[in-house]
Amino acid sequence: MNQTCPSCYSCGMPFKSASDYALGDVNQKFCSHCTNSQGQLKPYEEILSDTANYLVHAQGIHVQAALEMAKDLLKKQPTWRNHNV
Ligand SMILES: [Zn+2]
Repeated sequence: MNQTCPSCYSCGMPFKSASDYALGDVNQKFCSHCTNSQGQLKPYEEILSDTANYLVHAQGIHVQAALEMAKDLLKKQPTWRNHNV
């Protein structure tokens, strides 16, 4: 395990500060975007569309392309590696 650069187990976002973690708790595996207000992981579909929306805004790409990119991105994360989409 490479502990030098911790990142979200769901979306792969690198953690830069405690507020990036679920519930602001640095022992959490997921980021605040991937969890609800109870710190529980959101459903795949929700995280997928959140990630796609983010890509649309961050990269100015079409929503369909963003969805494909988001699927690819999530597929590489430990949480969704074995998730059948
Ligand atoms: Zn995340």
